[in-house]
Amino acid sequence: MESHLQIQVGKLTRREFRQRMGSGELQACILPLAAIEQHLEHMAMEHDWRSVSLMARKVAENLSPKVLVAEAIMAGISEHHMKHPGTLTLKPGTFLAVVSDVIESLSRAGFQNILVLNGHGGNVIPCQQTWDQFLRYFQINLHFLSYWDVLNQHDAKELLKSGHRLPEDLPGHAQEFETSIALKWFPENVRSDAVGDQRDRTPAEARPETGEAFTERIVHRLSDYLKEMIDGQRQQIIPPFHP
Ligand SMILES: [Zn+2]
Repeated sequence: MESHLQIQVGKLTRREFRQRMGSGELQACILPLAAIEQHLEHMAMEHDWRSVSLMARKVAENLSPKVLVAEAIMAGISEHHMKHPGTLTLKPGTFLAVVSDVIESLSRAGFQNILVLNGHGGNVIPCQQTWDQFLRYFQINLHFLSYWDVLNQHDAKELLKSGHRLPEDLPGHAQEFETSIALKWFPENVRSDAVGDQRDRTPAEARPETGEAFTERIVHRLSDYLKEMIDGQRQQIIPPFHP
């Protein structure tokens, strides 16, 4: 495969990366943040990692060859799920240190536009609380967004059957929204025989068509968001330093 069609940083050779960055072709990078954690009885624990990686890849394909995707940071802040063995968690300080170091690597590689695309709720507040520090330090157009942030109440009412509250039902946790996305794109991760083995009835409403409709809206809106970053219409304001 030709190098300009590759969208994962790790699939490029150092020469290919050098040439594409040097020619000005590469305009932005997406860094997905994920989690490996329990997703109720019926879904594989890799869900957040798979779903955010999928959204990132589809956005990069839309904006090819300008955008690369860094490999997703697999584990996130999941202490609140540790009652269920198999969950992997990073302590907030560890997680933020890793996120910061990978952003720094991408920045040193030449990216001025970086979209940190999150796929797990537990990562949100620690990132938001740290973002102004990152902006001052990195001095680049660095954005943080969870992939469901581009959805709204209207989307929930139109596409979900089990409930329309944000964030309880959209994104929720392993419920109709996430289960529908898995059914559409990686159905092997859903154990349909276990869907009914739990108090929560909402996953039973999940359908692959629902997952497809949500994905289409998410990818379309995220692509617009990133395009605006690249075109200079969505520029982060670097907060001032103390005088
Ligand atoms: Zn999840």
